[in-house]
Amino acid sequence: MKLSVEIDPGSGFCNGVVRAVRQAEEYLSHERQLYSLGAIVHNTLELERLESKGLKILSLEEVRRLRGETLLIRAHGEPPSTYALAKENGIRIIDCTCPVVLRLQQSVREVYQSMKSTGGQVVIFGRAGHAEVNGLVGQTEGNALVIGSLDELDRIDPERPVALFSQTTKDPVEYARLCKAVEARCAHTVCFDTICRQVASRHKLLVDFARNHSVILFVSGRESSNGKVLYDLCRNENPRTFLVEDVSCLEPSWFHDGDSVGICGATSTPKWQLEEAAAKVSSLFG
Ligand code: SF4
Repeated sequence: MKLSVEIDPGSGFCNGVVRAVRQAEEYLSHERQLYSLGAIVHNTLELERLESKGLKILSLEEVRRLRGETLLIRAHGEPPSTYALAKENGIRIIDCTCPVVLRLQQSVREVYQSMKSTGGQVVIFGRAGHAEVNGLVGQTEGNALVIGSLDELDRIDPERPVALFSQTTKDPVEYARLCKAVEARCAHTVCFDTICRQVASRHKLLVDFARNHSVILFVSGRESSNGKVLYDLCRNENPRTFLVEDVSCLEPSWFHDGDSVGICGATSTPKWQLEEAAAKVSSLFG
């Protein structure tokens, strides 16, 4: 069987994740252990690689019991309460919050403060419970309303002014639709363009990539929010899109003679995993 294989040149870690992984590796090159609050990247294999170097992932509950250690804050960012907890417990922080997320946190905080006197509401389009969203809600003393889809529009009070923000990794098309719907429902609405540029441009390029190949292997951890969005995007363009969490799950039955196979991934998928998937496809039919 003859196949052609191409790795999407735009896939691989986003800048925020590259920066966090680099800082963790740099620290672990001279120290035995580093703690991270939550998974530094939503990718099991990359996590295993970092854990083998000394990274230990902790939950917030575990951080509450930690004393005097060094803790990495990942690219998603954290609410102010986490920094207060670290201070209380004598924990040194390596802050890897992505600069894009830091700017977003700052805007949410400023807008929230400025709307307090007018009874305005900060609304965040994102996944409730996601670390980045928790970090944003934390800028509003816990008062921001989180909505995950257009179906939740009714939760917004149309009588009060609205400031609408998006989690950085949401689908730009869906966010644009939501902005329109909120503007139509609430007279005083300001929508902030807060989707990460890297994510937004990847969406457009990925649509073309998925169209230009007969089969798409989307390599991503199932936990990745951005992975879910981009996988759905590819699948909408190309029904022969398969989610690959680990190359061992590749099925020969997915491929036909003459296929052009496109391999791509989420912002949390390392390049080495895309290369591994390409090598596996080649070895299956080589
Ligand atoms: S997706 Fe964008 S905002 Fe989010 S961590 Fe990556 S570079 Fe930063």
